[in-house]
Amino acid sequence: MARIKIAIVGLGKIARDQHIPSLRSSDAFELIAVASPHGKLDGVPSFGDIETLLQAIPDVAAVALCTTPQVRYEIARFALEHGRHVLLEKPPGVTVSEALALTELARQKGVALFASWHSRHARAVEPARVWLAERKILSATITWKEDVRVWHPGQPWIWQAGGLGVFDPGINALSILTRIVPGALALTSAELSYPSNCQTPIAARLSLKGPRGAMTYVELDFLQTGPQTWNIDVETDGGRLGLSMGGSVMTLDGEPVETAQTAEYPALYAHFAELVRRRDIDADYAPLQLVADAFLCGRRVEVEPFVE
Ligand code: NAP
Repeated sequence: MARIKIAIVGLGKIARDQHIPSLRSSDAFELIAVASPHGKLDGVPSFGDIETLLQAIPDVAAVALCTTPQVRYEIARFALEHGRHVLLEKPPGVTVSEALALTELARQKGVALFASWHSRHARAVEPARVWLAERKILSATITWKEDVRVWHPGQPWIWQAGGLGVFDPGINALSILTRIVPGALALTSAELSYPSNCQTPIAARLSLKGPRGAMTYVELDFLQTGPQTWNIDVETDGGRLGLSMGGSVMTLDGEPVETAQTAEYPALYAHFAELVRRRDIDADYAPLQLVADAFLCGRRVEVEPFVE
């Protein structure tokens, strides 16, 4: 089968760390162009924006949007309007209404749309979902604590409106939670800590209620030095499930469980290839909705200014 000709828009950290290597080793895709205001990729035609790219290389069939979230909507609209299949990096929009509008547009145009959540492709997530499906959840905790200075150096957009702050990593945890817990989760309270010089929070505490009343408590922190923590722990009537390392390691009652040796981004692109072939849509906005709800109801606490 012919490979799908794809372009990357937004040549930053995640494009270089994950998208380009995954596409280069993919049998399903051929990376034929990139667009970014300042970045260029050796050996691949590079353009300043998507408009110029599609004009110069019209046989691009799909685009992967790896830009900062604040500019993604207009670029996604342009690509969908011009009949291209679209992969959105997370978060799928700055607002839920943007994301829903993209789904509607993709449906009208009959092209594939993948609102991707890379953490859902971490290797222990599917085994965890299957294990939980047969048990009653009693409670869950999420502890997602990382050092923003290590993982996001020189990314001021995170602190600007729409940049999500600590929810930039925190939404990954929520993407796993909403995948492995059966039924809808309702956000019941939030406390958001804003540095006095930032538009987005640097720490957050959330409470969520599951469909059968079980509570999930979430703690997010962007100032964690020393060991970094990306853990989800779930107490059930049949034992305790642990997910650590962002969903890549699973334990049951503290004992390690073997999981398949898969990698997030190659699995993500394999799924996108399927969506493109079926001209289908995979757009689950539950994680974004929970973050939006935290901003809707969250109690605001002001903390000391953030200086990188
Ligand atoms: P980043 O390093 O700041 O890269 C973002 C890139 O977007 C910049 O390099 C910039 O390109 C480009 N850009 C800005 N405006 C643009 C426009 N109008 N058209 C085309 N490109 C534009 O950020 P990142 O870490 O890669 O994150 C990008 C997205 O990926 C975020 O939504 C983030 O949540 C998600 N993500 C990041 C990671 C991670 O580990 N960093 C992991 C998973 C997902 P120029 O440099 O050319 O100006």
